[in-house]
Amino acid sequence: MACSICKSTGTHDSILIKDYEYNTKHITQYYVCSNCDGIYRNKILNYNIEKSLYDKKSYKPVKGGIIYDLLKNINSYYEKIFILKYLKKYKIKNPTKIIDMACGKGYLIGKLAKNLNFKCFGIDINVDTENNTNNINFIQSSYTNLDFIKNIKPNLIIINNFIEHMEDHSFINNILDVMENKSLLIIITPNTNTNGKKYFKDCWSGFHAPRHKVIFNERNIQNILKSKNNYQTEIRFLYDPFTNLISTINLFKKLKNDLSFITLIKILICPFILFLDLINKNRIMMVIRKK
Ligand SMILES: [Zn+2]
Repeated sequence: MACSICKSTGTHDSILIKDYEYNTKHITQYYVCSNCDGIYRNKILNYNIEKSLYDKKSYKPVKGGIIYDLLKNINSYYEKIFILKYLKKYKIKNPTKIIDMACGKGYLIGKLAKNLNFKCFGIDINVDTENNTNNINFIQSSYTNLDFIKNIKPNLIIINNFIEHMEDHSFINNILDVMENKSLLIIITPNTNTNGKKYFKDCWSGFHAPRHKVIFNERNIQNILKSKNNYQTEIRFLYDPFTNLISTINLFKKLKNDLSFITLIKILICPFILFLDLINKNRIMMVIRKK
């Protein structure tokens, strides 16, 4: 099996990860690519199991929940501040048309829609179209349907928390091909190169095992672009405190299943570790401007 980022077959580590977040019985093998240091999942799941991982009744990004919604809303507010900075930097004209591709419940696009100068669209196969408001339209569709991009002609497309769920990233190039010149594509995804991952190891929630198929770092993420010459790219980093919070909960679940002194010590140190990635941030934001 080859790395889906750089196609190299060499690996220098492999790790088994339990599905702590949803307490399923899945144990997933991940490899670390010796060429690009990307982390990718072994293909062990069949289509039916793969589909059940995103069940509408249980998968939190689709289903939501009081605490989950609260945390997501706080985090989306922070992501929105970063995104607005880039709209300003690249002098994106008004009225700004924004598509949040694979928007889930629409936490982020909902925050952006608070700005009435923005015309916002949330596209997701599972989205609830009853939540439409004056300047936000939810469209139930797959990310592969490019007609919406051709018709809306957005100045900005956001792909947040999505590429890590995919093995084939050619759809990014398909999207870029139909985007207007000088428009922006912003991709936000977990970063493997973090203190949280080193500390929490198999309990690190960046794996979101077995749902995350590929986890990038700041160097290899640019490999998903077919032709770098057509774009101006910038890599930035965001801090997401909830990644380490979920990792801490995973540690508790691990201790419950397997009483170990090391896990116990790790849990005791956790309150000091929660902000571990404040400096070495745990999410990558790749800003791509079509020339
Ligand atoms: Zn690789």
